[in-house]
Amino acid sequence: MARVGGDEFIIVQNGIQSLIDSLKAPVRIGENDALIGVSVGIALCPRDGTTATEVLKSGDIAMYRAKRAGKGQAFLYQPDMDTDVRSRCELEHDLRLAIEREELSLHYQPLVDSSGRIAGYEALARWNHPTRGMVSPAIFIPLAEESGLIIPLGKQILLSACQTAAQWPAGLTVAINISAVQVERSDLTGQIKATLEETGLDPHRLELEVTESMMIENTDEALSFVARMHALGVKIVLDDFGTGYSSLSYLQRVPFDKIKIDRSFIDRMADDASARTIVESIIGMSHRLHLRVTAEGIETSEQLALLLQTGCDEMQGFLLGRPMPATQIRADSPLSAQIGHLLTSRHTSARPQPEQTPPAAETERQRNKPASALRSLS
Ligand code: C2E
Ligand code: MG
Ligand code: MG
Repeated sequence: MARVGGDEFIIVQNGIQSLIDSLKAPVRIGENDALIGVSVGIALCPRDGTTATEVLKSGDIAMYRAKRAGKGQAFLYQPDMDTDVRSRCELEHDLRLAIEREELSLHYQPLVDSSGRIAGYEALARWNHPTRGMVSPAIFIPLAEESGLIIPLGKQILLSACQTAAQWPAGLTVAINISAVQVERSDLTGQIKATLEETGLDPHRLELEVTESMMIENTDEALSFVARMHALGVKIVLDDFGTGYSSLSYLQRVPFDKIKIDRSFIDRMADDASARTIVESIIGMSHRLHLRVTAEGIETSEQLALLLQTGCDEMQGFLLGRPMPATQIRADSPLSAQIGHLLTSRHTSARPQPEQTPPAAETERQRNKPASALRSLS
């Protein structure tokens, strides 16, 4: 056995499962149980190489594949894995160039409050690759995170989004997604302060969306980051709530300003009573904790009606507005009227309507509100 890198080991042996199993057991460190895991790439000699260099390279490629498949897996080297790794390297190379040339852009998706007013926009990165066309952020963001490219990219995104938002009417907020790597490996606080000064954006209009994994993997660092942001007046939003670990303890420990319920729950709400109960419970619990709640991925008027009944504070989804270039955000036209138009349209549901549309009973809160575009749904 040899240690070849910080967390990389090479073991020459027959059989592997027992090794994976034995490493799954928690390790006691002081008062705590530490959970460790291992991803294994296996290369066979002479099948996958006859020199040490070749065997190691094949093992490395298989390990890379195992890591991507999730923790605790072992993969045997296959020749087609080479193509995979090569195409990933090419994409990384192209992304590096695109960042240097500032070729990525931002689209903005509206966040609508329960009175039908646009409260702000979420900035979402877009990459139009010269030959591949639009590459999804679900592909290039993880690649940027793994390669460290998210640091320069995140800096560009922050500056561009703040510059754009500084031109909007003062009531509108801008939400920017932040990766854990940015908090861990760059002076994000300094960057944010400098960007706010440079662009003149009021810090109260800036929201940073972070994920559960960031809070869990690095709780102390994340907590002090949140405190520094609050001192500046910047809000912290927990994105994709309900996926990942969903530990409730950090809802208590971390003073988030808002949580966003993941699209997967909203998607199932209309047909699945348990998804509806989960959404209602998350909203109820959040309000008791004085947290605002956004529902993401609203695609049908049915979902919107259910969320309004539940008292959801803010809504986002294709039904209310797709992500669009900044140039399509029209400050001169009344935005809430645009949204109101969409909301009053009865033909927005992408799905077949159930036999009986659930009545969108007015809640006490809604009844007390002035007539709004959203009410016209019920
Ligand atoms: P997210 O932050 O949860 O963003 C919401 C995603 O859901 C966006 O996908 C948006 O286009 C999509 N979406 C919004 N409404 C609907 C809907 O009604 N239906 C469906 N099917 N989808 C909807 P997108 O732009 O592909 O981004 C995916 C993820 O990539 C984001 O999830 C975020 O985690 C990450 N990402 C995007 N831009 C950035 C960025 O600038 N920085 C970082 N760190 N991550 C980013
Ligand atoms: Mg987000
Ligand atoms: Mg999300």
